[in-house]
Amino acid sequence: MTKKTSAPSRKIYAIDELKITPENKCSFCKGSLCCMYITQKVETPRSKHDFEHLLWQISHENIQVYKDDDGWYLLVNNRCQHLQGDGRCGIYDQRPSICRDHDNDFCEYDSPAEEGFELYFRDYQELLRYCRKRFKSWDTGRK
Ligand code: SF4
Ligand code: SF4
Repeated sequence: MTKKTSAPSRKIYAIDELKITPENKCSFCKGSLCCMYITQKVETPRSKHDFEHLLWQISHENIQVYKDDDGWYLLVNNRCQHLQGDGRCGIYDQRPSICRDHDNDFCEYDSPAEEGFELYFRDYQELLRYCRKRFKSWDTGRK
């Protein structure tokens, strides 16, 4: 998701000489951070069965799981196929509304998204450790 315009591609600026504003910020964002992932809300996991399902999902490449004050989400770390080499959106005029609505006043460029996470599981092992802590009987009686 991004607010990038079809106007200037990213150029090398002396950052000290320029004030970063919402209008020019995307030009400085070398990683096009908001175009590199999607999120998908999931039902709040409560039972062992729910967490086993999450363990299955996080076992796949580039899948992570987090919880913030809105609930639980899958984080799919895959770049958008429309992101061009120069950082512009290849379908700018037809980009999805979620991209149009993305506000860069305070975005991933300013602060990593994970700073707002209450829980963050980067891989299977991290989620498994959480499951074992949350369910004392995790390793027994599972079918
Ligand atoms: S993360 Fe922010 S600065 Fe970077 S491209 Fe997206 S909206 Fe622009
Ligand atoms: S459609 Fe364009 S703005 Fe939206 S994520 Fe893809 S490259 Fe970014």
